[in-house]
Amino acid sequence: MRLVMLGPPGAGKGTQGQRLSERFNVPQLSTGDMLRAAVKAESPVGIAAKSVMDAGGLVGDDIVVGCVAERLQQSDAVDGFILDGFPRTVAQAVSLDKLLLSRRLCLTAVIELLVDEELLVKRVEQRAQDALNNGQSPRSDDTPETIRKRMASYRENTVVLSNFYHNQNRLIPINGMGAVDQVTVDILEALS
Ligand code: AMP
Repeated sequence: MRLVMLGPPGAGKGTQGQRLSERFNVPQLSTGDMLRAAVKAESPVGIAAKSVMDAGGLVGDDIVVGCVAERLQQSDAVDGFILDGFPRTVAQAVSLDKLLLSRRLCLTAVIELLVDEELLVKRVEQRAQDALNNGQSPRSDDTPETIRKRMASYRENTVVLSNFYHNQNRLIPINGMGAVDQVTVDILEALS
């Protein structure tokens, strides 16, 4: 199972990706997590990505594609993966196709979680508040201003990806506004 999860920040890609990862026994690969780990480790990738991430922008395609290419080579990803937060641009999608094609593989499907933007802002604000309530620091990019910027960035860059994958007949749109369990059921039904 080689899946891509598409959807704006807070749409539930992480939650649903985690469930699909357990169901199909393949790793969930989040480029946001990879980049945050790189920032924490103060690696060259992290140093290059930090200011862009804090400002709610998109890290350069070359950097992100490099991270994913390296991760897909690891043994646990040989039988499949759930990609969360990647690709975010058509250039990244083209690179992913090339990467898979070089191994005679292709994506199984692309799940797009459709959600209302105002609800999303509330969800992401809640995620930051939950972190504070649990004594953790919220993500540095979960501020209302940055959330709106990330939404705008999503709209600008990522919405065209729906068309890209629709044209490849791989796109499965899913209503992401329902209860978490219902969304999982809908995804699994669509995949079967
Ligand atoms: P996320 O956890 O997916 O919301 O990602 C957090 C941040 O990491 C984003 O706001 C971007 O700055 C950066 N990022 C994650 N994935 C990508 C990607 N595929 N392309 C460019 N930037 C990314």
